[in-house]
Parts: sequence; structure tokens; C-alpha cells
Amino acid sequence: MNLSTLSKKYNTKAKCIAYLEKLRWGKKPVCVFCGDKEHITKRNGTTRYHCNKCNKDFSVLVDTIFEDTRLPLIKWFQLIMLILNAKKGISAKQLMRDINIGYPTAWFAAMRCRCAMINSCNSLQHIVEMDETYVGGKPRRRYPKNDALPIISRVYNKRGRGTKKIPVVGIVERDGNIVLKVIEKLTSKNLLAMLRDNVKIDKSIVITDDFKSYRKFDEVVEHLTIEHSKGIYSKHGVNTNTIEGFFSILKNSIRGQYIAISKKYLPFYLVQAQYIYNNRNFKGNLFEVYLKNAVQHEKCLLNYKPKKEAKKIVFIKCKMKKAAKALKGL
Ligand SMILES: [Zn+2]
Repeated sequence: MNLSTLSKKYNTKAKCIAYLEKLRWGKKPVCVFCGDKEHITKRNGTTRYHCNKCNKDFSVLVDTIFEDTRLPLIKWFQLIMLILNAKKGISAKQLMRDINIGYPTAWFAAMRCRCAMINSCNSLQHIVEMDETYVGGKPRRRYPKNDALPIISRVYNKRGRGTKKIPVVGIVERDGNIVLKVIEKLTSKNLLAMLRDNVKIDKSIVITDDFKSYRKFDEVVEHLTIEHSKGIYSKHGVNTNTIEGFFSILKNSIRGQYIAISKKYLPFYLVQAQYIYNNRNFKGNLFEVYLKNAVQHEKCLLNYKPKKEAKKIVFIKCKMKKAAKALKGL
């Protein structure tokens, strides 16, 4: 589906609501508070329902990314479509101009939209590449140490390891999915924890460069190293070109679309880049798949408050799914 068919198909609020209800509940509405199906009555003339069991009112928007919104659903749908179709990301300013809404509205809606892109843990396997990159401004020109110069012009933010930019670690399965995460300290412990969370260790071969924090991988998983420090970048198919190619796209999208992203909200943008990449070969109706996920009853969307620490929000879902799995196993 594209923007023009979407605007024709869902041109009234009623149609949008009916579509969301179909995706969320199927034929019969379910109480979002107590899960009851039998004692639900529709409130005449509104989009709301009443549950006679717990005596509460609800609509299909409760507990979803659309909760409490004043932005018309038609515009929400258009905004989601624009974000899903933007392979290299789209800024809130651009959304503001495209669908004629205010800047804060566009920013908040885009942020909520990214929330619904948060996936559960991907299990990567087979040939897996892992690498890290640093996101931030470009390296500043170094000036000679001269007290006459203002301090700011003597600040030099170097490239690569040892820089003050934000480290982002990525794991990609060749011809498969990607997982991205902001890791403040690139220690063996942190990197190993990320590997364990996202990769089926017994079914994978991990390729990294010769950064010392990856050395411990040898003890845990089948691990191949390509020695970048010696100027070797590919040998008999051992390389980290897939992940580096992705980082190049990611940085281009940040530079081209967003210009600058704060450290606080970077995880959300990573989630978006990850979602778009993981669905790059998806042939069906991605809009529908996305919306189906967006209207699910999920705590992390319920507690969505971008003013709080973004990193926690982005990774909470992952942990919750794991906890649920562990409980089932008991
Ligand atoms: Zn109820």
C-alpha cells in the first residue's frame, strides 16, 4: 500500500477505527481492562464500548500508541505510512510539512510510532557479524595548543575508538536481521551479554574485528577474527562488510535526515533503522503488520513517556518477553 491508496481507503475516522478494531480484536470487541468478551455493549453514537463486568468504558485506542491522541487517525495513518516508506528515515520537520501538522505533534507522534517498532529479541544464527560504530558530529579540526585560541576550537573529537561520541553496537545475520544497541562501555562483559541475548550461540559463527574486547568470544562461541589493525579487511569470506555497510547507511540517514540526534533519544532512532532494515524484503502489507503490532496490549507503550530515560523504554519489552518465557518454562 502507498500513501495515495491509503488516503482513499481510510478517509474517515469511522473507517480507521473499524480497521483498528478488526486488527486488534477480530470480530468481537474484548474489554481492555478485564479481557471479558461476553458483556460488552456499544455506546450509541460514539466509538466507545462499555464493559458490564468491570463497569468501565474503553475504545480500541486504549493501551496503544494512539491513546489520548488529539491528532486525527487519518493523519496518524498517513504519518505511519510516510515513516514506513522512508528507507533512510524522515524527520519531524518533514512530517510537519507533508501532513500539515505542528512540529511538536509530529515529533511526539513519530516517537510513539517508533515505540511500536520495538521488537522482541531477535534470535540471529548462522553467520553473524558484530561490530561497533560511533554516532555523533564529525571530527573537529585540531588546532595547535595555543592559549590565544578559544578553548572550543582546541577540542578535537577523534574518529573511531577512544572518541567521545556515542558507541552503538550492531549484530547482523548475513541475509537476515539486525540488532542495534547503545552500549556505553565496550567491555567484554557487555558485548558478551549482548551476544548471548540476541544470538543462538550453539548454531552460529561470529565474525568480528580484532578489537580486544571481542577476544573472550573464543571461549563461548565459534569466533572468527578479521585483523583490521593489519590492514586485512576480507579473507576467504571472513569480513564484517555487511554490518559496516549498514552503519554507513545509518550514518548517512542521520546526517541527511536528522542532522543531529541527542544521546537520550538515539535508541528510538536505532529501533526505527532496525525495523526498516529487518523488513527490507517484506513483500506483504507492512502497514497492516505494523498496525497489528501497534494496537497490541503492551506495557512499554502504555508507559511511554519520552521525558524519561529512553534507553530503558526501548529495552523494557525485550526483558518482559524473556520473563514471560521463563515463567512458562516453570
Ligand atoms: Zn471489563
